[in-house]
Amino acid sequence: MKTLKQQHEEYLARVKAKGAKTLTFVTPCCGKTVEDMAAHAGETWDTLATCPHCETIYWKVATDSEIVATIPDKAA
Ligand SMILES: [Zn+2]
Repeated sequence: MKTLKQQHEEYLARVKAKGAKTLTFVTPCCGKTVEDMAAHAGETWDTLATCPHCETIYWKVATDSEIVATIPDKAA
């Protein structure tokens, strides 16, 4: 079975193959760097995501210039 990290790397490879922009951010759970797809210009994409490093679920807000991730319980 593939790890979440392997799945994330394959997802990123597909994103990049399509020519989409990616950004990196530091996770709020384990402090590691994660690369993910940037939103389209003028859009904000917010979603729950799972950390590919430690599998913590966090809230991720992506724009075309940055991605910010927060853990809902600790963000309040
Ligand atoms: Zn993590």
